[in-house]
Amino acid sequence: MADRGGAGSGRGSWRRRLGRCIGITAGVSDPMRTPPSAPRAPDAHSAGRGTVQESLVDRLTGLPSLILFVERVGQALVRSNENNTLMAVLDVNIDGFRIFNDAKGMKFGDVLLQVVADRLQETIDSTDVISRIRADEYGVLCAPIANEGEAIARAERILESLERPFALADGDVIVSASIGIAFNNEATSSVGIIGNAEVALHSAKSERRSSIKVYKDEIRTQAKYRLALDTALRSALERDELFVVYQPIASLKDRVYVGVEALVRWNHPELGVIGPQEFIPIAEETGLIVPIGRFVLETACRQLQRWREASPKANDWRMSINVSASQLKAPGFPESISHALGETGLSSSDLRIEVTESALVDGEVATEVLRRLRELGVRISIDDFGTKYSSLSYITRLPIDELKIDRSFIDDLVDNESLQAVVSAILTIGRSLGLTVTAEGVETQAQLIQLLMLGCDSAQGYLFERPLLPGACFAALSSPPRPPLGQKWM
Ligand code: C2E
Ligand code: MG
Ligand code: MG
Repeated sequence: MADRGGAGSGRGSWRRRLGRCIGITAGVSDPMRTPPSAPRAPDAHSAGRGTVQESLVDRLTGLPSLILFVERVGQALVRSNENNTLMAVLDVNIDGFRIFNDAKGMKFGDVLLQVVADRLQETIDSTDVISRIRADEYGVLCAPIANEGEAIARAERILESLERPFALADGDVIVSASIGIAFNNEATSSVGIIGNAEVALHSAKSERRSSIKVYKDEIRTQAKYRLALDTALRSALERDELFVVYQPIASLKDRVYVGVEALVRWNHPELGVIGPQEFIPIAEETGLIVPIGRFVLETACRQLQRWREASPKANDWRMSINVSASQLKAPGFPESISHALGETGLSSSDLRIEVTESALVDGEVATEVLRRLRELGVRISIDDFGTKYSSLSYITRLPIDELKIDRSFIDDLVDNESLQAVVSAILTIGRSLGLTVTAEGVETQAQLIQLLMLGCDSAQGYLFERPLLPGACFAALSSPPRPPLGQKWM
């Protein structure tokens, strides 16, 4: 059992110090275990005045502050070393918190941080210690813990609990979180172990939302690699290292190519060509996504215009462009679309913007931007449809034209009846709302046949073409889709 009160001679002093915290956490007997319903510490102006008190408790959530957490981790570390036991620090971070804050305002952000703190307290073990250690990050100390599996199980429990909607004044809010875990066997100080958990967290977040990562020394190496990428990415645009490839999209009904999806690549001077999954998350974190997105938009629009000058067939092709949440919400995004269309003389209906469901989490801003785009005449697709938890209500609220079924549903489509049922349901939703449904990642003839049988509208994937450089793509688009659609598809 972890010692919640502190050990040995330190105990008395802890009690005294914690006792002082009691005053500012409104009668809570132990600030390390503020019950969920406990009143918050008053606001900055009326809170307890002592600097020690202020530094020990986070005013917003009533949780112990980082300073107190560091001390508690330090104490646990000493005990764990003495008793030769394992302990873990979990760094829990709300995914995309900044987007909530930007979109709905700081007050909303504050409330969200409070309810998340409450939910975390309900979820953790009674012996665990929780703290708000940074703006949208919570630290959880589990000491002792049996093994790595036990720590991961606790992290999973936390993620599950946060996935339940939060009923706030202006409706249900859904959040996800990512967690980094570090153990005492990789660090010698409290700051070291907390830092390792943070490194693991960054690694988790760079992969996908809602993930858990355990700190290993390799992660720090990876973090250095990311930092190097980040630095190099800053000059990649100026050095002309980014380029765009295009993947044809085939209509399964008409058996012709109807357009392409623009996909960005980075020709790194030392590492060679790097895919977007490696550098787009970094660009999103640093804000570089905005100029990169503008580059992709302008390059892709110019490319379609060039193809049109070269062949009348290109009048039937449209251009799909991926847009991240942060791009969508950046000021002036609709204007940058109008500008690109104006420069190239393309019509707005030639352009399709692909956004993922997670970009729609904070309804108001996304809805407003999508409406403006729709007023311009731009088409809107939901990318990777079905991969994020979603109430689906947005489908009827938002001006959407297309659903793109994520590759994960297509991979095992042929052998998995449940997946067939899901794809069939997506097609039914699409049909009843008048939306086009496109399957992504079609790699085999068998998948294609299945999609044809289910009545899917269009598809893209390696079976037809990989993403191609402009010249090769133009040649591919100019012939009937592979497999020869007009001839023998089934
Ligand atoms: P996405 O929009 O879902 O794009 C489809 C991804 O699946 C592309 O990966 C494509 O190369 C890959 N793909 C297509 N067909 C197949 C197939 O048959 N099998 C397999 N295994 N993969 C296939 P890519 O180019 O690596 O892009 C990954 C993601 O990066 C994209 O997913 C998109 O979300 C993002 N992305 C790409 N370009 C941009 C961009 O310009 N801006 C932003 N914000 N995101 C971008
Ligand atoms: Mg896409
Ligand atoms: Mg996709």
